[in-house]
Amino acid sequence: MERKNKTTGVVAGIIANLVIVEVDGPVAQNEICFIQHPENNLMAEVIKIMGKNVYVQVFESTRGLKVGTKAEFEGHLLEVTLGPGILSRNYDGLQNDLDKMDGVFLKRGDYTDPLDREKKWDWTPIAKVGDEVSAGSWLGEVPENSMPHRIMVPFKFKGSYTVKKVVEPGQYTVDDVVATVTDADGNDIDLTMVQKWPVKMAVKAYSEKPRPFKLLQTGVRTLDTLNPIAEGGTGFIPGPFGTGKTVLQHAISKFGEADIVIIAACGERANEVVEIFTEFPELEDPRTGRKLIERTTIIANTSNMPVAAREASVYTAMTLGEYYRSMGLKVLLMADSTSRWAQALREMSNRLEELPGPDAFPMDLTAIISSFYARAGFVYLNNGESGSITFIGTVSPAGGNLKEPVTESTRKAARCFYGLNQGRADSKRYPAIDPIDSYSKYLEYPEVMDFLKENVGENWLSDVNKAKTLLLRGREAQEQINILGDDGVPLEFHERFWNSELIDAVILQQDSFDKIDANCPMPRQKYMLEKVLGITDMKFSFDSFDDVNAFFKRIINLLKQMNYSEWDSDKFKSYENELEDIMKGSLKEEALVGKTL
Ligand code: ADP
Ligand code: MG
Repeated sequence: MERKNKTTGVVAGIIANLVIVEVDGPVAQNEICFIQHPENNLMAEVIKIMGKNVYVQVFESTRGLKVGTKAEFEGHLLEVTLGPGILSRNYDGLQNDLDKMDGVFLKRGDYTDPLDREKKWDWTPIAKVGDEVSAGSWLGEVPENSMPHRIMVPFKFKGSYTVKKVVEPGQYTVDDVVATVTDADGNDIDLTMVQKWPVKMAVKAYSEKPRPFKLLQTGVRTLDTLNPIAEGGTGFIPGPFGTGKTVLQHAISKFGEADIVIIAACGERANEVVEIFTEFPELEDPRTGRKLIERTTIIANTSNMPVAAREASVYTAMTLGEYYRSMGLKVLLMADSTSRWAQALREMSNRLEELPGPDAFPMDLTAIISSFYARAGFVYLNNGESGSITFIGTVSPAGGNLKEPVTESTRKAARCFYGLNQGRADSKRYPAIDPIDSYSKYLEYPEVMDFLKENVGENWLSDVNKAKTLLLRGREAQEQINILGDDGVPLEFHERFWNSELIDAVILQQDSFDKIDANCPMPRQKYMLEKVLGITDMKFSFDSFDDVNAFFKRIINLLKQMNYSEWDSDKFKSYENELEDIMKGSLKEEALVGKTL
């Protein structure tokens, strides 16, 4: 898109944030332009080209803008500036540093530098003089908080280059030249720590993208045990307002197995975004003992920002993820809620008067969502190292209707479905993930099954299936009890119901606000599942359904206390002993013979 002369134009029409510009030269889809404005020029992006008439979406309020105003096209797409110093920061969708502003929101037309140009970084070279390098090759690294930030040959470089010079270890700013490379024609090119990537187009920063095969532990039992997500996998959490989407995403951010956490907060309410700014800096990182924010970047928007800025934020977040992935790091990317993004797409599509799809969303909504989710993944880099982006988005279906277009489209794109159930949320069964409707397609991948067998246990998958069957049978038994009454069904139905309650209370339910229960590592998940399944296998002697209820309530209480106690502590063991005493007392005589608990 390099041009000799800048293309310019004049505003010919204004429909809220959609502006029609009549141009005098070539422009490209998604190219950035600035519309002149008395206070500050307004940034906009080309979204449709109709001959001389170009439709641009303005990232700011267009209040006061007049027909006839001049616009200048920049010759590049919407892009982010990449380099050390992105972690710990709060950006908006256009990568403005929110901490450099007064309050949470920018004044119209203000754009801030996403990087610190003064700070010196502790450079260690990786490449040597004479090395053949190409786009993505690691030239050196600087520690960014606790992470190794690799400085790479920019991805827009084509072909191969020879390293002519690499600076000595030492302190450098992001704009200092750290390496010089020579291209095939003998031209020398100086490189700094900064590069720019377009956000809406994936930069192919890897050599291979195999199917995800490793488990990514989240510390959330109902995910890891029942429907695990793979490292580099995709998942989504649809749930009506107030069912726990945000709490669940935050839990995953805190305890998920990742080097880098990127959160795109497209808040439903402004205070949700403010909450994330106040809550996250306080959080301890269970993996490093330092602060979680040291390896987190937050991209925040609220619904009162112009739609175009909201739309950009998920792409900005994904691009930052791709950048860190190409350093060989494990990135966990969260977007809450992607419905706000889809709504931004809808508003623009409606203003463009495009032929609408279902519920007035754009016709190609499914394709847009799918190509976004497809940017996640586990990759091998050119140097043989691996990196990943695991992506989980939330969806807030209007009126809780899971048949609405955003949920339907996302279902086609994401491999894990974690549906939040209003009934479970109402009865405070958190996380309110429906154990029966939810799924993980990774459990169908032979490579994932092998990984789980090898790393969690040979019997793990059969145990998990057994738990799922018991949950389903429990639900059926409950329906029968509801129809026929407590006395109208055999005692066995009550036992079936309570077996599923046991799994629900001990495995599915988890208190995100409890210091210990909030995070459940895999060995502990396995221990508890085996414990619970062992109980469901036992034959107890009960005289009445009251007996059944009382017995299960007691043991559920003890097992929950175990969940709240430090793993393997004296307290944990004393609850466990108490549990075994109660069970021994209730076992059928014949069941006791030759059996150890
Ligand atoms: P949503 O984002 O779906 O609107 P939130 O994540 O804000 O919903 O959750 C709403 C409320 O539900 C929280 O403020 C909290 O009280 C409760 N809640 C949700 N998940 C949990 C959980 N895992 N443990 C305890 N409480 C929870
Ligand atoms: Mg929320």
